[in-house]
Amino acid sequence: MYIDSHCHINFPELSARLPEILARMAQNHVTHALCVSVDLPDFPQVLELAKNYPNIYASVGVHPDYEDTPEPSVDDLIRLSDHPKIIAIGETGLDYFRLQGDLEWQRERFRRHIRASRATGKPLIIHTRAASADTIRIMQEEGAGTDAGGAGGVMHCFTESLEVAEAAIAMGFYISFSGIVTFKSAKELQAVALAVPLESTLIETDSPYLAPVPHRGKMNEPGWVMHVGEFLANLKQVPAAQVAQQTTDNFFKLFKLTKDQAHV
Ligand SMILES: [Zn+2]
Ligand SMILES: [Zn+2]
Repeated sequence: MYIDSHCHINFPELSARLPEILARMAQNHVTHALCVSVDLPDFPQVLELAKNYPNIYASVGVHPDYEDTPEPSVDDLIRLSDHPKIIAIGETGLDYFRLQGDLEWQRERFRRHIRASRATGKPLIIHTRAASADTIRIMQEEGAGTDAGGAGGVMHCFTESLEVAEAAIAMGFYISFSGIVTFKSAKELQAVALAVPLESTLIETDSPYLAPVPHRGKMNEPGWVMHVGEFLANLKQVPAAQVAQQTTDNFFKLFKLTKDQAHV
């Protein structure tokens, strides 16, 4: 069984096809998915999905690429995360690729998410693009990691260097690989994935984006996370069942889910 640790099935292009998407998950032995919040106006739909489907979890947070959107306070995040199916804070982080100029607001927003994570004990889902030095620095300054009494979390859709991965792992974070790792051109990322221990690895789709090979270019969906898992198994020369089991165990451990809550 596989788990998709990061998807956006509340986005209209996927939510319109929900029965089909859930059926494909079942068919591909993808037992659970984490539907990740990107802004506060969409949060009620994300929560609704998690309430309606036992195998869908959710997070609360405001994405660093969303500039003109209600700004969450630490208290907002704490209050909105107060539900058993809300298992994480995010996605949050820094993105200096999509947005330029004075991005102090992005760093401030990121710090508030880390404070909410520390206050609630719910792990962070961190997005970082062209901003790894500041991302790691702020994680350290705010005590995001389990090494500093924080809740830890996951570096999602990881595309950075092995040094960045190791800095995050040292803070008790997991590294999540998306369909990007399956792309022919992603040789450097494949070397990073090979070096990151399976004990620190998660897998995700980030659907509807970034469909893995052999579906590259199509609209992605959680059921296709199995292709990421199978690719990693092949890369690491271990059985696919081992990648499936370890990444599933990692997910339950990180998000502190018992077998009972997990509906396995
Ligand atoms: Zn992201
Ligand atoms: Zn995302």
